[in-house]
Amino acid sequence: MSLIVQKYGGTSVGSPEKIKAVAARVLEYSRKGHEMVIVLSAMSGETDRLTALANSVQDQPDTREMDVLLSTGEQVTISLFAMAVKAAGFDAISFLGDQVKILTSSLHTKARIQSVDTNKIKDQLAQGKIVVIAGFQGVDENGNITTLGRGGSDTTAVALAAALKADQCEIFTDVEGVYTTDPNICTSARKIDRISYDEMLELASLGAKVLDIRSVGLAKRYKVPLHVRSSFVDTEGTWVVEEEKAMESMLVSGVTYNKNEATITISRVPDKPGIASKIFMPISDAGLVVDMIIQNTRAGELTDMTFTVPRTEFKRTMELVTKIAADIGAENVSGVEDIAKVSIVGVGMRNHSGIASTMFHVLANEGINIMMISTSEIKVSCVIEEKYTELAVRALHDAFALEREDHQ
Ligand code: ASP
Ligand code: MG
Repeated sequence: MSLIVQKYGGTSVGSPEKIKAVAARVLEYSRKGHEMVIVLSAMSGETDRLTALANSVQDQPDTREMDVLLSTGEQVTISLFAMAVKAAGFDAISFLGDQVKILTSSLHTKARIQSVDTNKIKDQLAQGKIVVIAGFQGVDENGNITTLGRGGSDTTAVALAAALKADQCEIFTDVEGVYTTDPNICTSARKIDRISYDEMLELASLGAKVLDIRSVGLAKRYKVPLHVRSSFVDTEGTWVVEEEKAMESMLVSGVTYNKNEATITISRVPDKPGIASKIFMPISDAGLVVDMIIQNTRAGELTDMTFTVPRTEFKRTMELVTKIAADIGAENVSGVEDIAKVSIVGVGMRNHSGIASTMFHVLANEGINIMMISTSEIKVSCVIEEKYTELAVRALHDAFALEREDHQ
């Protein structure tokens, strides 16, 4: 008998029929004698609907009240789910975040979980009930309802699994697992059986949308094995676990891309101490996240600086950088919006050399120009023209033979 935490996303509980189907599935586990803790999202579209309601009433909705509003989405699904279990002749009880209690910081709409009280949950499990918990929400030390930010239910599930020392944490979603690349652009993309936390963190931050990145960080910290799988088919999904020997023998585990990127170049900046900090301090103070940075060396006293920001922040950053450039005596600011970042990820890179140069070679063979490069221990990223994204992803997926189970 194990203690299992399962999280079902919005599409899995999007209608009463789907809720009944999920309940039936959970009951199969209960019948086998497992203790079940179920975390649910709001019905698909519900959090968006509530957000739109708020925006129609107040321009910048008050964040405390926003949390009171948004938390209702999950209240609907957990109560219906408990009813569905009861209708099937078993016992269940639902809890909101503040009833549990899931204590968070007070940063409304972006709160962080600080602790989880497991007493109530354990009591109810001991009474043979399925315990159903609202994802994405908690309560701060003053009793205010908080939410964790969009996609936060994954984090609720992992935090509960860690606090309860669950045997496993399963995230049920509308895809069958984590793929070697986006199956929508590469038909030979393959579901990955096992992947390390670090690789998943890179893939999640680089644009793979299966798992919320904060939940992966938490799973890594508390060594919670995560199983990402489909609510609609009964096959094994992808296990996200600690690094294993077999993973190292693979050169590359996945290819990913991000089109929400833009570059900004400040040209002919006086090259002297303090210049980078004069440029990047105000940018970070404005809450803008810079990803890659390149500083060119030029003979003489002037240099060029190019960096990337999310495309959604392009205009705001350009305005700010234009002011900074005037202050520091740079000659020109220019930007390119139609770029994309393509990356290869794999823990095998630590022990194998030549992976980055293979990537450059593959892109060159396709006639794709590389505009920027950045590397980490387990990742190589290249900025290219956006229109070549699909071509680059397919070529890299092929070159590293990711369609094969045993790709080397
Ligand atoms: N319902 C919330 C959202 O849509 C939280 C979640 O589903 O994870 O963002
Ligand atoms: Mg989600």
